[in-house]
Amino acid sequence: MKRIAIFPGSFDPFTIGHESIVRRAIPMFDKIVIMIGYNANKKSFFPIEKRLKWIKQVFKDEEKIEVETYGGLTVDFCKETGARYILRGLRTSSDFEYERAIAQMNKKMHPEIETVFLLTLPEHTPVNATIIRDIIFHGGDASMFLPKGLNIEEFKVENHA
Ligand code: ADP
Repeated sequence: MKRIAIFPGSFDPFTIGHESIVRRAIPMFDKIVIMIGYNANKKSFFPIEKRLKWIKQVFKDEEKIEVETYGGLTVDFCKETGARYILRGLRTSSDFEYERAIAQMNKKMHPEIETVFLLTLPEHTPVNATIIRDIIFHGGDASMFLPKGLNIEEFKVENHA
């Protein structure tokens, strides 16, 4: 049976912190599906098509990585893809408390699915998509927090609408 993991998130935008979690998890799984979750009632900063394109670009040479979008519950996406693992990254104790509740409730509802946590590398602890959006919105240079090989011009605020 293949070990398939889902890495769910809004990835608005996908950061070096997200990238690092995925790359470190590659040896642990046969396949990792990065699931860009969307909510029709919530407005994102970057359009979903761009987030999908950027993440695909980052992992274009990784056979084990797939990138998809999904508007429902992560556990339902797990069922659809045959995944038994949910991958999440942990930065701080507040991440932990938030993740703990979700993982424990998911476990209660779907005991066959395990949530697997990787602690962030120390240098990625402060990397936060909300702050990156703020930097970009105000015309700052956030490129050091974004995966290499992406066209940074595409992240400029006048291009994201
Ligand atoms: P969500 O909106 O579901 O929290 P995010 O896109 O913010 O989605 O994050 C997806 C996952 O990546 C979460 O598990 C989050 O804790 C983790 N993550 C976010 N930033 C980092 C980082 N800098 N280092 C490690 N993990 C991170």
